[in-house]
Amino acid sequence: MSMRRPTPTEPAVTVRVRQVYETLSPAEAQMHVETLIVPPLDNNVYLVVDEASHQAVVIDTGLGSKEILAKAESLGAKIVTILNTHGHADHTADDAPLKAATGAKLGIFDVDAYRLERNAKESHWFLPAPAPAVTADLLLKEGTTVHLGDTVLETLHTPGHTEGSCCFYDAADGVLFSGDTLFAGSCGRTDTLGASPAKMKASLQRLAQLPPETLVLPGHGPSTTIGRETWIADLAYPVV
Ligand SMILES: [Zn+2]
Repeated sequence: MSMRRPTPTEPAVTVRVRQVYETLSPAEAQMHVETLIVPPLDNNVYLVVDEASHQAVVIDTGLGSKEILAKAESLGAKIVTILNTHGHADHTADDAPLKAATGAKLGIFDVDAYRLERNAKESHWFLPAPAPAVTADLLLKEGTTVHLGDTVLETLHTPGHTEGSCCFYDAADGVLFSGDTLFAGSCGRTDTLGASPAKMKASLQRLAQLPPETLVLPGHGPSTTIGRETWIADLAYPVV
């Protein structure tokens, strides 16, 4: 475990192995972020803890519910909300057990919600079995805010990887949870069901308008900042 406490302009580099926990706390932040790298596809799941209230939001679950619960318990945090950045099964796999264990409300962007039902019916090479059935409690839309004590996460609709992909933006702390929309040096694939290279291009151009020091915490791989991803401000063609 790393105990580094980087500032938004000096994001920690995530170690790309499974189940390594990392502590990220932007300077002066009201919230504290734990990164867990979990199966099935080295998914980054984030435990966002409001320092004042000890309430927590989990962003994506992967197959990490046991580790997420243990981490929350060790921090004395209560998980009240689970958010999915999009409906792909590697991100949503443990939504059902984590929801059952915590009573947390589950949120996903409205036009990706059908994927939860679909995931319960489909086998994937990367999962031992289809994800258990689960129903969303919160159907997110552009601009929906999720409050966690004094911490506010704003939903930014960023379609392209899927039709209902979204990012969660904490403007006060300068942190963006970017799911599979923006990675360090690349973006999510745009060649599967519901994907759109043209929409991905527009979404990346939108993210390029955020302050350059914004810390970007993606669904896979290391963290970055908007300012480091200079390529997203200079996209001549749709992303393929
Ligand atoms: Zn995905």
